[in-house]
Amino acid sequence: HPPERGGFLSPVLLRGIGKTIEKGEQALLFLNRRGYAPLTLCRVCGHRFQCPQCSSWLVEHRFRNQLQCHQCGHSEPTPDHCPECGTFDHLVACGPGVERIAEEVEKHFPEARTIVLSSDLMGVKRLRLELEAIVKGEADIVIGTQLVAKGHNFPLMTLVGIVDADLGLANGDPRAAERTFQLLSQVTGRAGRTGLKSHGLLQTYQPQHPVMQAIVSGDASAFYEREIAEREKAVLPPFGRLASVIVSADTRAEAETHARGLRAAAPQVTGIMLLGPAEAPLALIRGRHRFRLLVHGRRNSDMQSFLRTLLANGPKERGSVHVQLDIDPQSFL
Ligand SMILES: [Zn+2]
Ligand SMILES: [Zn+2]
Repeated sequence: HPPERGGFLSPVLLRGIGKTIEKGEQALLFLNRRGYAPLTLCRVCGHRFQCPQCSSWLVEHRFRNQLQCHQCGHSEPTPDHCPECGTFDHLVACGPGVERIAEEVEKHFPEARTIVLSSDLMGVKRLRLELEAIVKGEADIVIGTQLVAKGHNFPLMTLVGIVDADLGLANGDPRAAERTFQLLSQVTGRAGRTGLKSHGLLQTYQPQHPVMQAIVSGDASAFYEREIAEREKAVLPPFGRLASVIVSADTRAEAETHARGLRAAAPQVTGIMLLGPAEAPLALIRGRHRFRLLVHGRRNSDMQSFLRTLLANGPKERGSVHVQLDIDPQSFL
């Protein structure tokens, strides 16, 4: 059920919202992405707006008329022309953030009372007021980021729509499936807390994905059993251990050379494998270039002693080079 051209909400979800608010109940649209659009590009020359300090795209925040880097906080006013080719009025916003979803909702439901809950739009006090307003039924449609996932009871909320259920799956983290399953379970669990007949709708390009199947069937234990079997086969945590060694420097060459030096100094240890160096998934943060080595060991491997030897035998930190170790990291970016 693809959305119509230029939109991000499928006809099924839009019909669902319409029916829900007609009954005087509430709909929640979840998208874990702040701002208006995650990428802006020039339609004439293809220029993409990137942070000058990081390898991330600048996110358009239309309410504030700014482009922002969600990595380092850099922001600049949204330009009216392309800095590359100079063309005016040909910049296009690609993909949705919550602000853009709010715009689409207002187009379809101009009479509805809509609230956007996003951490960049409000302080704690304002957030509390907004949450109280929702509980009292003073909003028809709530559009929110991860803020809405937990803890609040909205008695009138009978429809939850996940705008992009695939968003968390593609980040290369071994825990991506588990985390996405937990988040989607929490968010869809916002509907029907007080027994009113409720629905959850997922928008996904991968309806056969085990995470989507598990959410639809409600069979959490089948999902976890499968996930456990796969982790065991691949010797991933908790059956194996991971460590990341991030080498950062002011220049790409320094970071890469140092990382290769560490690789060459790695001790041979049975049961421990060293992968890389490769550019880290976030290859540039705040002007620092980053390369990553991944250490993958069996559960009983002595990762500490492997890393100690690696650092002792390898090149020493010099100049702008910095080495950061993370054993059993929670995030792999
Ligand atoms: Zn251009
Ligand atoms: Zn940045």
